[in-house]
Amino acid sequence: MAHYAEFYDLRHVLILGRVTSGEGGRIVQAGAEKVLKEEFPELAIGLHLPEEEAERRVGQAIAAGKPAGDRKEGGMKMRFSNPSAEIFVPDARSIEEALGRTTHLAVAAHQDDVEIMAFHGILECFGREDRGFAAVVVTDGRGSPRDGIYADYTDEQMREVRRREQKKAAVVGEYAALVLLDHPSGIVKDPAAREPLEDLKEVFMATAPRIVYTHNLADKHDTHVAVAIRTIRALRELPPEKRPEKVLGCEVWRDLDWMPDEDKVALRVDGRDNLAAALLGVFDSQICGGKRYDLATLGRRRAHATYHATHGVDEVEGLTLAMDLTPLIRAPEESIRGYVVSFIQRFAAEVEERLRRLDVE
Ligand SMILES: [Zn+2]
Repeated sequence: MAHYAEFYDLRHVLILGRVTSGEGGRIVQAGAEKVLKEEFPELAIGLHLPEEEAERRVGQAIAAGKPAGDRKEGGMKMRFSNPSAEIFVPDARSIEEALGRTTHLAVAAHQDDVEIMAFHGILECFGREDRGFAAVVVTDGRGSPRDGIYADYTDEQMREVRRREQKKAAVVGEYAALVLLDHPSGIVKDPAAREPLEDLKEVFMATAPRIVYTHNLADKHDTHVAVAIRTIRALRELPPEKRPEKVLGCEVWRDLDWMPDEDKVALRVDGRDNLAAALLGVFDSQICGGKRYDLATLGRRRAHATYHATHGVDEVEGLTLAMDLTPLIRAPEESIRGYVVSFIQRFAAEVEERLRRLDVE
């Protein structure tokens, strides 16, 4: 192997052959690892046996799709208000481990919002052991628009389809965990209903994300804004040491390119269009009717990259923009409404100032 490594860039080697089945394989593996470690310490080659690969895959299949109530390994019990709420862990880790390794967390209203607005978090964690991306979807998907092969689906069937699509995205994006809270949108928009907020607190207490992504407060979809408000309120009720370093309000039903440049948080999301396309593409039930969220979302990222700075060549190929919501968590007494309106006032002032400068009455 060390000889081959002079010609090939080896990182993982699968040991095959009849002699490697059972105990024999482990002896060959251990012997080879010892020689490599002692005589070629500069080579970092992982040696694998077919059995361990097969076991891993079976483990994943067993772990996938078990409802929250059945998964209490490690003493973790999540108390969600809906018995139908679910925690989905795409790999073989326990729920406790999956939530515990979460460093980036997105809270979204609907299935597919996470992939549209929080791709930055997915990318930051993709393929990394030291970071984990988790997604929370608050609503149940029952009221989703439907067309094509889904046109005659009942609300319940739509709920099932959308859960399935969201789980596919979690697998593709290598999420640490996906939490489906399964609330009707009506509950989310009802200011008197505490259930969504309490559920979000449960999630925040079980994780310790550095960055939280949610909807921006100037979005034009009521449920999106309601979810952002629940997220802010839940974070405000956490003990200060559990609060994240950054809370970002992201784009779905309204771009943020209208904000003055100094207010924009520009998140770089380039270099992985293949992954972006795959993540957006699994939501077939929403795209098939002719709403090309997949193309539009990629187009928006590309447009932001070009239009973000007026001068100079494009340095990045994709950007998403966010509204910084962190001050609302740091100062829990600050008015949420006043905070959003201040962005609009600064935008108005910027436009007015330019016109005045150009001598327009
Ligand atoms: Zn949505």
